[in-house]
Amino acid sequence: MRYAVISDVHSNLEALHAVYNNIENTVDYVLFLGDCVGYGPNPNECVAALREKAQVMIAGNHDRAAVGMTSIGNFNSYARTAVIWTHNVLNDENRVFLQGIPLIEKFSGILLVHGTPLEPERWHYLASGNTEQNFHSFGDKICLTGHSHLPVIVERSPENKITRYAEFAEIKKDHRYIVNAGSVGQPRDGNPDASYVLLDENCIEIKRASYDIVSTQTKMRNAGLPEYLITRLARGL
Ligand code: ZN
Repeated sequence: MRYAVISDVHSNLEALHAVYNNIENTVDYVLFLGDCVGYGPNPNECVAALREKAQVMIAGNHDRAAVGMTSIGNFNSYARTAVIWTHNVLNDENRVFLQGIPLIEKFSGILLVHGTPLEPERWHYLASGNTEQNFHSFGDKICLTGHSHLPVIVERSPENKITRYAEFAEIKKDHRYIVNAGSVGQPRDGNPDASYVLLDENCIEIKRASYDIVSTQTKMRNAGLPEYLITRLARGL
């Protein structure tokens, strides 16, 4: 089986289409790790496009916030403005859909969670300080995550040695993995191209897809979304 793993689309339809173009006819399943909406100009279109292609979808903090299911108390002012804008723009069908998707899911023995396997409802970020704790909090070989918008493959050997890979890892016997797919719609690792992951029985690969950032930015300006969220797309930060 070959999977495309996508996360943190954040209402960026151009970025999502670029990823779809890259993976077309090359994967058996599309797994989505949360944050369909928030930040970008096309929430309804992105929810529809994800529902069409993804076999598995879980919720992110922005999805839950946009449908009134989690507090925006921890959101910065830009994220809060975008979530309120999204809340007002989402149609009823997509609102009900987002309210119904789970926080955590398992597919073919792979664990899917937006933040971390440890306390997924608290939206932690995976960090070097909590890596060991997170590996202890689940029993599967592979856990797929998003949320930080920073793609990385973290490998734990049977001797508890942690190794991080930026682009590619061969899947080794008796080793376990936490994979962050990065963000399709708002990367923050300094590379503005949409980030996603390809996964099969043998390897894990972080891939990038370039897209028409200016088109997304123009739509965001027309929608009156915060300038900071518009300019950061081009920086990838
Ligand atoms: Zn996100």
